[in-house]
Amino acid sequence: YLVKVEKIKHNVLSHTERSDCLSPVEFLVKKQIYIKVLPFRDKLLNEYKRMKFHPERMSYYLEEWIRNLEWDWNISRQRVYGTPLPFWYCDNGHLVPAREDMLPVTPEKSEPPVDKCPVCGAPLKPVTDVADVWIDSSITALYISGYFDKPERFKRTFPTSLRLQGTDIIRTWLFYTLFRTLVLAGDVPFKDVLINGQVLGPDGTRMSKSKGNVVSPLDRIDEFGADAIRLTLLDARIGDDFPFKWEKVRGKKLLLQKLWNASRLAYPFIGKKRFEKPERPHPIDAWILAMHRKFVETVVNAYRNYDFYVVVEQMYSYFWQTVADEYLELVKYRLFQEDLSAYYTLSRILKDIIVLLHPIAPHITEEIYSLMWGDKISVQLERLPDVSDIEYDKRFEEFDAKLMSLTSAIRTAKIKNRIPLSAPVKVTIRGPKDLLEFSKSIETDLMRTFRIEEISYQEGETLTVELSDHGSLSHHSAA
Ligand SMILES: [Zn+2]
Repeated sequence: YLVKVEKIKHNVLSHTERSDCLSPVEFLVKKQIYIKVLPFRDKLLNEYKRMKFHPERMSYYLEEWIRNLEWDWNISRQRVYGTPLPFWYCDNGHLVPAREDMLPVTPEKSEPPVDKCPVCGAPLKPVTDVADVWIDSSITALYISGYFDKPERFKRTFPTSLRLQGTDIIRTWLFYTLFRTLVLAGDVPFKDVLINGQVLGPDGTRMSKSKGNVVSPLDRIDEFGADAIRLTLLDARIGDDFPFKWEKVRGKKLLLQKLWNASRLAYPFIGKKRFEKPERPHPIDAWILAMHRKFVETVVNAYRNYDFYVVVEQMYSYFWQTVADEYLELVKYRLFQEDLSAYYTLSRILKDIIVLLHPIAPHITEEIYSLMWGDKISVQLERLPDVSDIEYDKRFEEFDAKLMSLTSAIRTAKIKNRIPLSAPVKVTIRGPKDLLEFSKSIETDLMRTFRIEEISYQEGETLTVELSDHGSLSHHSAA
């Protein structure tokens, strides 16, 4: 007979992963199929260290997971769709695998490899559960390197070079891939593991439908282009979470427009032509080539370390600020003079920039490459730029510092006096002797670039640039 009826209170978990549906989660006790993992714990702990983590701190999450493993790998799922598990079972809980030559197999639609359970003799029934999704995805490294059927390729490509993934699946995708590869092939699956941070909503919190802060790149891809969005997503330290903001995408589009405009400016002079390296490049060209060497080495090194944000940063500091804002202005008059040193230098640095930017802005770089050079069918067939022939030492850094202080002082003087940069002026440059000497050595370039009709020099402690003939200025600017 019934003694009593009462309401009890459960702790109820709710479903928040992926769908955010918040439905209560109910636990059911069911028989499952496991792969033994626990006996391999020590091996996993030793071997995982042979993979290099980017950033290094992410290895902690894998190590902690392995260290704290409490159960084996449950590989069976009670779902309608999925990869069939190649097993039959008897009512006494014995499991009979398919023969290897039967694979792939759907047990429900095939006869078992033996008539009855080899252990107890009971009749066999097909397993209708499907495989945990990580069963398939944990063999990616083995599959692409040809472990199963391409021994020649496997010898060449295993362990594979790189796994790219997010923090949220370190304990699943990364862990199971390491486990399966180690057990089956006896080695770690990859040399490098790169763990991305998460792209957060514009408000800096995790994107979720219920919070309404979900942004899709497709929302405005027509407006900004795929390259600008890609650059935005790569413009963060590897492993850091960052909020997605359309403002940042707009900034990247401006950068790419700058690149397009620089190429358009250069095209009439250098498009589809080859130039020999001049024996003695013009000092301004020698300077930008030295800066270029530093840029190429920094970027190649950044790619080697998967520091894509450094490449993006270099595009601003080198391409935008140094090449576009300074060099292109300084070289313009020589382009019109058909100066071969200028042609050679501009063609070389622009091409290298296009090649080096290509992996992270593939569309615009392919377009510019095919219009401007097109030596190969695709920019992807170009080699990494070699800059070992370019002269670089600390004299060029001094040159750079002096040049930047001069051009910025001249520009500021014009702006302060509300003179258009294109209006002719006379200037007095006051400053330390070495700076005045430097200015004299590139006087023609300064005069042509800033439309200076006359420069007079005065020694002084700090650099100042004054416009020395306001009368004629207003006359010219009015004209
Ligand atoms: Zn049995």
